[in-house]
Amino acid sequence: MTQFAATMCWVAGLVIWFIIRLPHQRRARKHAIVDSRNRGGQQTLVAISVVGLGLVPGFWALTGMGAPRGANLPFSPAVAYAGIVAVIAYLWFFYRSHKDLGHNWSATLEIRAKHTLVTSGVYHYVRHPMYVSFWLMAIAQALLLQNWFVGLSGIVGVGILYFFRVKKEEKLMLDTFGGVYRDYASKTARLIPYIY
Ligand code: SAH
Repeated sequence: MTQFAATMCWVAGLVIWFIIRLPHQRRARKHAIVDSRNRGGQQTLVAISVVGLGLVPGFWALTGMGAPRGANLPFSPAVAYAGIVAVIAYLWFFYRSHKDLGHNWSATLEIRAKHTLVTSGVYHYVRHPMYVSFWLMAIAQALLLQNWFVGLSGIVGVGILYFFRVKKEEKLMLDTFGGVYRDYASKTARLIPYIY
């Protein structure tokens, strides 16, 4: 395993990520939006996560894993193998959460026509499996692209998206589904069962 091979694993993960997302993005357009919260703010958060998970690592990869070069770390194959495990894990969570969420998915905070509260499948265990997937994606990036600046950029990007979104999203769910959501939330963890 070399840094180049590890970078290719990171690229492969992103390609599969897009293949999973694309049909949902297309289908979402067909379902009218009946409630939307903090749209501009949420779009900014998505843009910030794209910088951290896409532009910064992409720039580093395209410059021959050289910019910022000073932040490159000595390459560890063992760490990169752990990164591959993280890629498989994030893709699994991403696939499962899209499948379970179905037409209720949106990139920002929205309620769609015929929105239903999903509490089964992976949502039976955690309330935010797609955000679990984003955190794992940032971890995979840090483990595969062994440059501390690039690694940190993914974690910070996801962190900003997550912490500025999750409370607003839960408020939207509570306003829409009331006691049913309160009940569901009391029985599930946000990201890690029994812990958080
Ligand atoms: N936070 C979830 C969903 C991310 S997609 C996750 O991490 O898996 C964001 C959209 O999903 C929000 O606009 C919200 O309307 C919707 N949503 C979040 N949780 C939901 C649930 N349990 N059932 C139905 N829709 C949900």
